[in-house]
Amino acid sequence: APPRLYGPHRQNAAGVDLSQKAVRRALADAQARFDKAMPHACGPVISGKVKTGTAREQASPADSSVIVSKITEADESMVDAAFAAAHKAFDAWDRQGGAARAAVLRKLADALEADTARFMAILTREAGKTLNDGVAEVREAVDFLRYYAAEAETKFSHADRMPGPAGETNHLELCGRGVFTCISPWNFPLAIFTGQIAAALAAGNTVVAKPAEQTPLVAFEAVKLFQKAGLPKDVLQLVPGDGKVGAMMTSHELLSGVAFTGSTDVARIINRTLAERNGAILPLVAETGGLNAMFVDTSALKEQVVDDAILSAFGSAGQRCSALRVLFLPRETSDGLIEALKGAMDALTLGDPADPATDVGPVIDDEAFAMLTDHESRMEREATILHRAPLSDELKAQGHYFAPLLVELPSLDTADREVFGPILHVIRYKRADLPKLAAQLAGKGYGLTLGVHSRLQRFLDSVREAVPAGNTYVNRNMTGAVVGVQPFGGEGLSGTGPKAGGPHYLYRFAAERVVTINI
Ligand code: GLU
Repeated sequence: APPRLYGPHRQNAAGVDLSQKAVRRALADAQARFDKAMPHACGPVISGKVKTGTAREQASPADSSVIVSKITEADESMVDAAFAAAHKAFDAWDRQGGAARAAVLRKLADALEADTARFMAILTREAGKTLNDGVAEVREAVDFLRYYAAEAETKFSHADRMPGPAGETNHLELCGRGVFTCISPWNFPLAIFTGQIAAALAAGNTVVAKPAEQTPLVAFEAVKLFQKAGLPKDVLQLVPGDGKVGAMMTSHELLSGVAFTGSTDVARIINRTLAERNGAILPLVAETGGLNAMFVDTSALKEQVVDDAILSAFGSAGQRCSALRVLFLPRETSDGLIEALKGAMDALTLGDPADPATDVGPVIDDEAFAMLTDHESRMEREATILHRAPLSDELKAQGHYFAPLLVELPSLDTADREVFGPILHVIRYKRADLPKLAAQLAGKGYGLTLGVHSRLQRFLDSVREAVPAGNTYVNRNMTGAVVGVQPFGGEGLSGTGPKAGGPHYLYRFAAERVVTINI
């Protein structure tokens, strides 16, 4: 018999096929409808009611003159109301068991999948996602809903009998903890937003969610869609806002746990807030950044390295926590590889994310652009700029476009933290120096993704042993983990685990209870 594959039985979403003209036309129509109705109003959703008030305008990262949404942010009384309603709804949602919750989550997945074109249109304008990234993102959100539904069904719908002495029965069961706060990032404003919520809900919790400030609309539309598709209105509350709203949530007296994806610095702040609040000691599921490296040896295939390095470093404009940041090339073959990388960079098309020809879209906002520009200036002083991808002045003036950059570092000392965007750092190494370099990289404390390009098992083993990583990819690109296939998440400065889209994720959202009965 074939070995049993680990994880619940289900299938990932098929997505849409961008090579089909009819599909591209349907997406363009959906985009036109969305664009025509801009700016879209959005705001807090408390027990199914949309709150309106003073609204802030949110521009598109691809074009600063385009206002995508007008967003009303949550105030303290709304956050309180959201927690009170979620708290009240918890018992009933938890008690109905995993199978009933799975049925609801599957309806949400179906509704989202059917609405793919509209959600892609939102992602394009609000987050600057290319069509490829948009398809992948909606698929991932759908996959999270179905994966955690299957997990709820298998793990949260019955108590497990444990072995024990005669005359006694022992049962272990999983249930929800209470109200979870989910704080999601702008780089996967639909997939991670939905994934955190789906996990918390699947495990029996109710949720107060805050989307990233830059991407409130896609979250707002998802919540409205989920409620229309059958999600009880009190179990999911949406409170858009900035870090102040986040602080109200993480210090709230009715809080039972936090799921956070974002920077390591903010994860630390949340950790501190949780430690200092009164009451129960609460779990934090944090997924943060990485200083992700790819190690190439002389046996690697040049074209494959170039393809995978370009996609891993510059795909999604480098705005993935899994993205490649430091590429280690062997001295012997580095000249040829660097020339090929430059050629591949010249072939990248930056442009309107809604255009199927675009490879790289904008970075998210002014702040991201300024941070990248600062880093570029620092690299001009401390390293060698090898190449910039072509970027027109027109595009640069229009939105937050940053030309993908290739930089050679004199040593790893210059790379001390994650730089979130399309900048690839190269280090040429001498074979004898590899153990020292790998140890130095490991010493930086991150542990998210790792790439290896080699035909030699011993090279792979030596890199893997030296560099801790949650997700290692060999002879392929190192982004785009697939739900249920590559459970995703890191260690050290990169996060707490457990891995999203994996069979252990829901445990951290659950309380475990054992009942022992002496008969
Ligand atoms: N799961 C994504 C990937 O594998 C990255 C998630 C993130 O950037 O937060 O590329």
